[in-house]
Amino acid sequence: MASKNKKTQEDNPLKNVIAHAKEYGFIFQSSEVYDGLQAVYDYGQYGVELKNNIKKLWWQSMVQLNDNIVGVDSAIFMHPTVWKASGHVDGFSDPLVDNKDSQKRYRADVLVEDKAAEYVKAGEPEKGKALEQKLGALLEAEDLEAVRQLIIDEEIVCPVSGTDNWTDVRQFNLMFSTEVGSVADESSTIYLRPETAQGIFVNFLNVQKTGRMKIPFGIAQIGKAFRNEIVARQFTFRMREFEQMEMQFFVRPGTEMEWYEQWKETRMKWHKALGLDAEKLQYHDHEKLAHYANAAVDIEYEFPFGFKEIEGIHSRSDFDLTQHQEFSKKKQQYFDDEVKQNYVPYVVETSVGADRSFLATFCNALTTETVGEGEKQKERTFLKLHPAIAPVKAAILPLNKKDGLPEIAQEIFEDLKYDFNCIYEEKQTIGKRYTRQDLIGTPFCIAIDYQTLEDQTVTIRHRDTMEQERVHKDELAGIIGNAVSFKNIFKQL
Ligand code: ATP
Repeated sequence: MASKNKKTQEDNPLKNVIAHAKEYGFIFQSSEVYDGLQAVYDYGQYGVELKNNIKKLWWQSMVQLNDNIVGVDSAIFMHPTVWKASGHVDGFSDPLVDNKDSQKRYRADVLVEDKAAEYVKAGEPEKGKALEQKLGALLEAEDLEAVRQLIIDEEIVCPVSGTDNWTDVRQFNLMFSTEVGSVADESSTIYLRPETAQGIFVNFLNVQKTGRMKIPFGIAQIGKAFRNEIVARQFTFRMREFEQMEMQFFVRPGTEMEWYEQWKETRMKWHKALGLDAEKLQYHDHEKLAHYANAAVDIEYEFPFGFKEIEGIHSRSDFDLTQHQEFSKKKQQYFDDEVKQNYVPYVVETSVGADRSFLATFCNALTTETVGEGEKQKERTFLKLHPAIAPVKAAILPLNKKDGLPEIAQEIFEDLKYDFNCIYEEKQTIGKRYTRQDLIGTPFCIAIDYQTLEDQTVTIRHRDTMEQERVHKDELAGIIGNAVSFKNIFKQL
């Protein structure tokens, strides 16, 4: 029998996660044959399935389950004035600092935040909190010289050179720009979008009018975003090209806090429904609010490198729509029948990274346990993914390659493949094939043996318990269907 699963951060360091993701076809470094491109990653054959399933789960939970939320798919390129209006041209920057000895560049705020986290870890949470608050105040006041001094006072040194020989702290814009148009002097600078949200804001009236949407209502979008991130560590946690799943919920001014509380709760439930351990999830209120926001919270997951943001929930007031109204000179108002008033709606935003959600799910699922007794004891590694998001739902495995077993197995495969992503495999011993499926997180292995020839029954082997049961082959679709059903997940929300 399997022993109780025991998983700690020490058991599951990031390097194991990275190695597993690569070895089993989930995530590869981009352009690896050319030694890779930093902070850019490709999803492999199983990774793309897992990521698509996460995105589908998000889309359904937003658009399909709420009759007042609809989706859009806006372009990556947008009119450059969008980014003026949104504040990204002038304000979307990180404070950077270089170490003069190692020539390495860091985000000044991250250096201080890491130090604050060290205090918390060392049992001095008050000191950690005070440091975070101090940093928040200095950034708010845009006092970069004082941020540098804080780094020195806190004796923060460069991990490479070990010195505190820091340059001045400077702001660095994170947007990638390029030129549109073929003639150099007629071309103009445009940006790769750093967030998907603005594509929603500029379509607010298009969707509201054509969809005859009544407030409160939401617009959801999944798409790529690009940021020239400097601190490009921690695998897919911080990438230069990544995917966001964002929803802007438009509400009557004055009601935004109710909706903020509601979305905060709903989104936390979604992460739990995805299979993340409840004790590895927490809220983290923002110390420093953007000037237009009246509330903001992060949902954090405990990665092997600590609790970090996977989603942000922000009450953004009417900031974005008002800005677009000003810059475009076109009204962004809604006439509210109930109160007989025209107003610019307030917005509550939920914004989650598909890649961070993937990474959290992957870290959470990677499990190593000891199985067997005495001399037969050994380690078993498997991906304990929720069946609904597992890349492969069932592996169809004939015991061997003769006596008609492959033919029946093929029939079963043909029957199931329209509804479920299945694998057919007949090479190697059955034990080795089970192990391989465990490593990619397949919840069901279906073995076809000599008894199948007699009574049409097959063995189902369950990934997490390794228990086996015999069922009639006609029951398979029902059993798998029930386990992977999105309905069963959403009923918990
Ligand atoms: P961070 O403070 O970690 O840079 P952020 O507060 O800038 O994140 P938002 O602008 O709120 O992030 O973006 C919303 C979500 O998009 C984040 O919660 C995260 O899941 C995802 N995201 C943001 N930047 C990246 C990135 N560079 N790589 C992967 N995902 C990202």
